[in-house]
Parts: sequence; C-alpha cells; structure tokens
Amino acid sequence: MKTWDVVVIGGGIIGLSLAISLRKRGATVLIVERGEPGHEASKAAGGMLVECPLETPPVLQPLATASARMYPEFAHEVEIESGMKVDMRDQGTILFPTAEHLPQVQASGFLPANLQELEPSLAETNLDRPAFYLKERSVDPRALSKAAWQAAKHRSVDFSSGDEVTAISITDGRATGVTTTKTAFHAAKIVNCAGAWSGQVGPHRFPTRPVKGQMLCLLMPSPTFLKHVIRAPEAYLIPRSDGRLLVGATVEEAGFDKRTDIPTIQRLHRAALALDPELRNAKILEDWAGLRPGTPDALPILGETSTPGYYVATGHFRDGILLAPITAEVMTAVLESRPPEHDLSPFSPSRF
Ligand SMILES: Cc1cc2nc3c(=O)[nH]c(=O)nc-3n(C[C@H](O)[C@H](O)[C@H](O)COP(=O)(O)OP(=O)(O)OC[C@H]3O[C@@H](n4cnc5c(N)ncnc54)[C@H](O)[C@@H]3O)c2cc1C
Repeated sequence: MKTWDVVVIGGGIIGLSLAISLRKRGATVLIVERGEPGHEASKAAGGMLVECPLETPPVLQPLATASARMYPEFAHEVEIESGMKVDMRDQGTILFPTAEHLPQVQASGFLPANLQELEPSLAETNLDRPAFYLKERSVDPRALSKAAWQAAKHRSVDFSSGDEVTAISITDGRATGVTTTKTAFHAAKIVNCAGAWSGQVGPHRFPTRPVKGQMLCLLMPSPTFLKHVIRAPEAYLIPRSDGRLLVGATVEEAGFDKRTDIPTIQRLHRAALALDPELRNAKILEDWAGLRPGTPDALPILGETSTPGYYVATGHFRDGILLAPITAEVMTAVLESRPPEHDLSPFSPSRF
C-alpha cells in the first residue's frame, strides 16, 4: 500500500506552496483536489501584495511583512521551476485613503503621490484628493496558481485531482489518511488547505466561510496606460503587463455562490470610469467571482489540531496570495516539529 509523508487537502495557492516547500525538505506529498488545482479563490484574486499597516490586522503584520519580503524569491523560483511567468510587478500602489484613514496615513509618513507625474490619466479627476505612494508589489494569481501547480509537478508532488476528501481517517486517536470520493489515501500527516470549504471536512469544523468577491477585467487602451495599482475606497485597479486591468472587488456574504450579477459588475465599471474617465474606451474582457476563505476574527487558522497528525492552513481571507510563501515556511516548520520563526499562537486552531 502506497503511503505519503503528507497528504494536503486542496490545491489552491496555499496547498500548492506548502507542498512545494515540504518536497524541498524531502517529504513525499500528495495533493488531493476536488476540482482542478488553483481554480478557486486563488485564480479569482487580484494579486495585490498588501502589507500596509492601515489595511492589515496588527497581529498579522509580522507575517504579511515577512511574506512580502519573500515574494521576489518565491515568484522567481516558481517561474524557474515551471518555465512560466507570474507577472510580478513592483511599480507600486497609489492609495486614495478613506477620510477615516487619512489622519493615520498623514501621521505614518507615507509619501504623497504626484499624480501628474505618476499616472497623468488620473490627474484631472482626482487632483483634489489626497493620494499617497506605497512601495508594494503585485502578481497575477491566475498565472501564479498555474505556475505553482506546474512547479509542484516538476518537484514530484503527486496529485489526485477531481477527487474530494470526505473524511479524515483516524486510528487510535491519530490521523492516518483521508477518505475521498474515489478511494482512500494513507499518510503520516494530513493538512487541511481547503480554503472556504475547510470546515466541511470533519472531525474539526473549522469556522471558515465563503466571502464572495466579484471582479471585472478590462483591456487598457495600451499595456502601459496605467502602471501602478490604484486603491480607492470605491474600487481598486490592478494593471497587468499584458494590458489587462482588473477592477475589484465586492466583499459579500452570499454563501457558496460564485455567480456574478450585472448591476454589481456595472457598478464596478462605473467606479473604474469615475477614477479614470479615459478608461471609457477600454474593452470589457470578462467578469468572475471567487470565494475568499473568511474566519470569525478575519485571521488565518494555522497549526496542528487537537487530533495528532492533523494540521490546518486556511482562512487567509483577503491576503492568501500575499501570505502563501510565509504560510508554506511556517507550516513546514510545524509539520517537521520545529519551532516556526513566527509566533503562531494568534492563529491557533484551538482559539475557536
Ligand atoms: C475577488 C478576490 C480578490 C482577492 N484579491 C486578493 C489580493 O489582491 N491579494 C491577496 O493576497 N489575496 C487576495 N484574495 C484572497 C486569496 O485569493 C485567498 O486568500 C487565497 O486564494 C486562498 O487560497 P487557498 O489555497 O486557501 O484557497 P483556494 O484557492 O480556494 O483553494 C482551496 C482548494 O481546496 C479545494 N477543496 C475544497 N474542499 C475540498 C475537499 N473536500 N477535497 C479536496 N479539495 C477540496 C478547492 O477545490 C480549492 O481548489 C482575493 C480573493 C478574491 C475572491
């Protein structure tokens, strides 16, 4: 009977990054994925690598900062091992803060952004708004998920796709494998990386819930029309190097419903045009929705559960693309019974 050192449930960016990290340390890894790897939240994301203290919960800041620092190397490695590009961009972000955040932004010493110089097409309609420059990166999560899947295969991670985990097998109080819709797999350690669906696999009902985000994608008049990520209270705009421009995103409690609706997409479109009227001639390419893995305190759930051999890495909510490298690093340490480099107690599964 074939066994693995680790079975990972869920092939989103969290499961894929962790599997790659474990393989690098010599572990044998199987990812069991209900659909196709990288096709849920990880494909739907905007890909902003936000580590700004205004937008990050304070207890998450050390992980966010560490992960943002790891990104260039993480993305480079994934690109090399997959032979694919992930469009990591470091032009930075122009932030139009909310009125509520403005005093904090001013006090934090963020650099004012000279719109005329940085993004002339935004200057006319936004000149009277305070704007700030953040040194922040972005990545294309669709490309990243595909490339991470390829990199995992390149590293000999095994996959069982189109296969749903229905239960954790427990022998003498210890997790020993998973039962799936197709078969059963045996492993010394199991990690639940099932995103918004993590709570559906027993025996621990992790309190994850789907938080829907609808997105619109436009084609800019030219690939360099907007260079920076633009973040405003009404919408954000994320340019890709191939000329696409993502307009996001809603934050909705709508259950496991991934449909988009016309009024919402039109509202996003209007918000984009209000920010930059020169986008009126931009073609609409597509729209979609994804389900962020939310938790009651909006923090991830990371660590070993009370069932020996059963671990969890989920609940990354709005920051799972950003947090993938650090999650892989700290969870690899936890799975190897080494102390992780960061305090994971705020993220413990036992807090619920
Ligand atoms: C609109 C939108 C915009 C976003 N923007 C950003 C952003 O700009 N920056 C950022 O950092 N993050 C962003 N996010 C958040 C980010 O996408 C998520 O936090 C991240 O993708 C979570 O990754 P994951 O691997 O945990 O989940 P997922 O990608 O959802 O992967 C979970 C996987 O588990 C599989 N699965 C579920 N149940 C089972 C089962 N029982 N058996 C087997 N497989 C199972 C699913 O099929 C899925 O493939 C955004 C999300 C959305 C929706």
